[in-house]
Amino acid sequence: MRSEIICVGTELLLGQILNTNSKFISEKLADNGVDCFFQTTVGDNELRLIDAIKVAESRADIIILTGGLGPTEDDLTKGALAKHLGIGLVLHETSQQRIVEFFEKRQIEMSQNNIKQAEILIDSTPFLNENGLAVGLGYKKNNTKYIILPGPPKECERMFINYAIPYILDYQPVKEQIYSKSLRFLGISESKLAEVCSDVINSQTDPTIGTLTGKYDVLLRLTTKAKNESEAESKFLIPIEQIKNLVGEYLYCYDDEDIFEKLIISLKEKKLTIASAESFTGGGFSQKLTNISGASAVVRGSICAYHNKIKEELLGISHNVINDFGAVSEECAREMSIKISNLFKSDIGISFTGVAGPDEQEGKRVGTIYISITINNITHAYNLNLHGNREIIREKALLYACIKLLKII
Ligand code: ATP
Ligand code: MG
Repeated sequence: MRSEIICVGTELLLGQILNTNSKFISEKLADNGVDCFFQTTVGDNELRLIDAIKVAESRADIIILTGGLGPTEDDLTKGALAKHLGIGLVLHETSQQRIVEFFEKRQIEMSQNNIKQAEILIDSTPFLNENGLAVGLGYKKNNTKYIILPGPPKECERMFINYAIPYILDYQPVKEQIYSKSLRFLGISESKLAEVCSDVINSQTDPTIGTLTGKYDVLLRLTTKAKNESEAESKFLIPIEQIKNLVGEYLYCYDDEDIFEKLIISLKEKKLTIASAESFTGGGFSQKLTNISGASAVVRGSICAYHNKIKEELLGISHNVINDFGAVSEECAREMSIKISNLFKSDIGISFTGVAGPDEQEGKRVGTIYISITINNITHAYNLNLHGNREIIREKALLYACIKLLKII
């Protein structure tokens, strides 16, 4: 089953409103295993609407029209479809009654135009509007199903779920759903990822694979149709292995996994405590960890040593290190992680020092970051050159640190 959505409304074309009906309907179609290959938006113009319907007929079995069911002149969707199919319109009695009652209750005079909202195509299936007045409908001709829904999202969405979906599925119950799985990478650009994995991406048709950019990372998303989740998972297995062979070193999690939660779990399992000394991250690492319930079992605490004086006086970083190498240096980062683990008597000390921007610091460019991890008296230091704004640089540094720690422990 191939479907196509046609949204009617000049206001959509003018960018005055966001086309949320299209998003909602597409999402529900996918949930129900119905393909949607095209979405069209057309203004309140009969000729162009009929043209759009003709194009849709050439490539879809289900044509879903939304908008233009109101009482005014520019509401012409039902009329246009009726004209195109050469079928008359009749009044749907229940809807007509509802409209009359609506105006009577409010003691407002009803104009004759309002009755237009009760019109349906002859021999069509009426869809009651549970959130408004205009009746929708489903109509079948020559193996094509036409569906008409009102424009206001509350009316459209409810009618789509309660009436249109059953109408679509009645004839061909869907057995499959769409499943996706995202692989998240850090430390590799989207273009590089696409280039390295191009053979897998291009040769793979089920599941399909596409690249995406996240806020702080890049993703490969695998998508397939399957009867259930375990069938989908088994389809994902081989391509994931192939991807891991190519770029596994950058892969850090799947879907919306919280890697800080993973870290807390891992620290608990290994009975390791942790403390952090943070400069440019301003306590962000500590916050990420303490966001996770149960963090108190492993998190000792943190010193946000933003100012150099605090680095020296509270953490005990030697004046010479800051003087000779700068606060943004591997030497300083190393001292910070060693000192914090000593001060807080934790198994692990982790430190962050760097330039989050927007201005350079100590002649070091924005994005110059040092992270140091001291564990069992061994210190591992990392130098990163990150890109992005202040927030992105900080968040990426926190992710990197978490990933490094997970690998080390
Ligand atoms: P009405 O009876 O309100 O005239 P209608 O069925 O004729 O409803 P339209 O006139 O096309 O629908 O749109 C009515 C309102 O519904 C629009 O002003 C807009 O706020 C909203 N709307 C219409 N189409 C969409 C859409 N595709 N996505 C989101 N909102 C929409
Ligand atoms: Mg309208």
